Amino acid sequence: MRVYNTLSGRKEELVTLEPHRVKIYACGPTTYNYIHLGNARPLVVFDTLRRYLTYRGYDVTYVQNFTDVDDKIINRSREEGEEALKLAERYIDEYFEDADTLNILRADIHPRASQHIEDIIKTIEKLIDKGFAYEVDGDVFYRVKAFKEYGKLSGRSVEDMLSGARVEVDERKEEAVDFALWKAAKPGEPFWDSPWGQGRPGWHIECSVMATKYLGDTIDIHGGGSDLIFPHHENEIAQAEALTDKPFVRYWMHNGFLTINSEKMSKSLGNFFLLREVLDKFPADVVRFYLIATHYRSPLDFDDGKLEEARKALGRLKTTLMLVDEFQQNSVSADTDLKEIELLDKVNELRQEFIAAMNDDFNTARAIGHLFEISHLINSYLATAFQINAL
Ligand SMILES: [Zn+2]
Repeated sequence: MRVYNTLSGRKEELVTLEPHRVKIYACGPTTYNYIHLGNARPLVVFDTLRRYLTYRGYDVTYVQNFTDVDDKIINRSREEGEEALKLAERYIDEYFEDADTLNILRADIHPRASQHIEDIIKTIEKLIDKGFAYEVDGDVFYRVKAFKEYGKLSGRSVEDMLSGARVEVDERKEEAVDFALWKAAKPGEPFWDSPWGQGRPGWHIECSVMATKYLGDTIDIHGGGSDLIFPHHENEIAQAEALTDKPFVRYWMHNGFLTINSEKMSKSLGNFFLLREVLDKFPADVVRFYLIATHYRSPLDFDDGKLEEARKALGRLKTTLMLVDEFQQNSVSADTDLKEIELLDKVNELRQEFIAAMNDDFNTARAIGHLFEISHLINSYLATAFQINAL
């Protein structure tokens, strides 16, 4: 099985840390709103990956977090007049309602940032001890220049980042590229006690802490949308590897954007469709089919017409399954004729090609193509067989 690794920029043979076991961490949503169709793409992509690896005999451990402490949540809680953690909790429930409808398997563990504050504080203390972080006025920053390999995932160099840095940087930071591990509490924000006073964790630290807590220092696959490569995943590497001196992730997998008129679908751009709006108009299996009919690394442009096409295409596959059922129920003779043997041989060949496509960096687009070839063969076989039966 080969997987495209963002870290090396090429497809690599999947060799897991332990044979037949695979440990996956996927970045989950920041829970301040209902999820939109763009958020649903990584859910379906990594759910499909997980199911396929299980089908291929792997024992899969899957962890997906909830970011329930964040600026966006705090801003939203001010607008709504609802306490930030309560609001986040409410949207976690809403997330599960949407994800369950979409038939996304629940992760083995769904850790939440707010429930790992102690682990996060301990990690930050260790980073300070090792010289990778420093405190200023109740904030703690990661010292990017101390981590020599910074930029290896996104292919950026610290020097370029510094020369491109905007002018209004926080002057308390040693370097403009340094990022917050801990933020001192401002009035009205949720906070926890820490050695640096009352505050809350930054976004990046929660993921590397929760990933290593549940999956170990080195995990097999880390997934997420390609918008997370920089800075989020770059920072996760810096935090985790500075601490353990071990590779954090063996394979970094990133899905492409869902776009509308070639623009990324996002809440901040306002060009989004909520998943539940889409699910009101189309069944969940059609939405899933639409989201995986394109290879996960390719951009996927959205319009209603494409969902309608997906509905028809999936309908054709379902019709074939129905015809097969009907044929098996009404088949008079139990004998397998020569034509049927020929058909089964071809179907088996195509089944192997389906597996080969999936093994080649989870090429669902090509794999689904093979499903249609199978459906085609069966349809023409059945068309003849039904005629004979009718005689
Ligand atoms: Zn994350």
